[in-house]
Amino acid sequence: PSTAPVTVIGLGPMGHAMARAYLDRGHRVTVWNRTASRADALVARGAHRAATVDEALTASRLVVLSLTDYEAVYAVLGGADPSALAGRVLVNLTSDTPGRARESAAWAAERGATQLTGGVLTPPSGIGDPASSTFYSGPREVFDAHRATLEVLTAADHRGEDPGLAALLYQLNMTMFWPALTSYWQALAIAGAHGLKAADVLPFAVEALDVKRFLEFYTPRVDAGDHTGDVDRLTMGVASVEHVLHTAADSGADTTLPAALLDVFRRGVAAGHGADSSSSLVEILKRPAT
Ligand code: NDP
Repeated sequence: PSTAPVTVIGLGPMGHAMARAYLDRGHRVTVWNRTASRADALVARGAHRAATVDEALTASRLVVLSLTDYEAVYAVLGGADPSALAGRVLVNLTSDTPGRARESAAWAAERGATQLTGGVLTPPSGIGDPASSTFYSGPREVFDAHRATLEVLTAADHRGEDPGLAALLYQLNMTMFWPALTSYWQALAIAGAHGLKAADVLPFAVEALDVKRFLEFYTPRVDAGDHTGDVDRLTMGVASVEHVLHTAADSGADTTLPAALLDVFRRGVAAGHGADSSSSLVEILKRPAT
């Protein structure tokens, strides 16, 4: 197992959990955070508090960045001495767009540093657990050289060389995660209007959100461009989403989400997909709404 020195820059809930995981595994951990006091508990556990970003960068070859977004990355690293950045491996676990991840990889390369982009697929409670995972992208040999150290945080899954790829896969994950979770908040808002508690909804919410069999059924069809309406028709989908919208409205609940869905479904019908499967909405969603 690796006990290489590690620097963690950014001590929000994620960076804090990461620094803690490294300390627990016996690494020499250097930390830096804009609000210095957020390092106090880690320093009490043996972390070294860098007084400056340059000191944090020079303390370890491997530098984990866990900041809010890439604006914050530039705010922190933009003032660093070029000699402190040169030769570093910047493990950028900050989430942002694929384009921004590519830009910052180029920014790092211009300064002699290498970026490994990471998309962490767990909340802080899963850091240090090999059952959690992180997508990585960037130079394979750099990933391989540091793999054991990265695996202290979560399982590490290298997906390719493009520095934007891990960011893309992470954003695809969030594209699905947020609507799914928000659909639960919506259901609970409607349920609450009828005297049902979250605990009453949970058992069938788990089943409702387990859409694996639908994903597996539609995937080969979507890849083949086949939206045959043999098991579901978009016109039925429109009626169904209308029922959801009316139920929300009748309950006095917010209707923003079902109204947005209905808009997309109706545009599918208007585009001639009424007799096709709802999977034809993929074609509608490929273009901006006009
Ligand atoms: P936070 O937004 O809480 O982390 C904030 C960190 O960024 C703090 O250290 C903060 O410093 C620093 N920061 C923000 N803006 C600046 C700035 N302009 N200059 C300097 N430092 C700045 O995020 P989390 O810790 O929750 O997450 C970190 C990253 O991990 C995010 O990109 C997030 O999307 C991603 N992520 C988070 C998950 C979660 O469950 N929390 C799950 C998976 C990924 P200060 O303390 O001084 O404010």
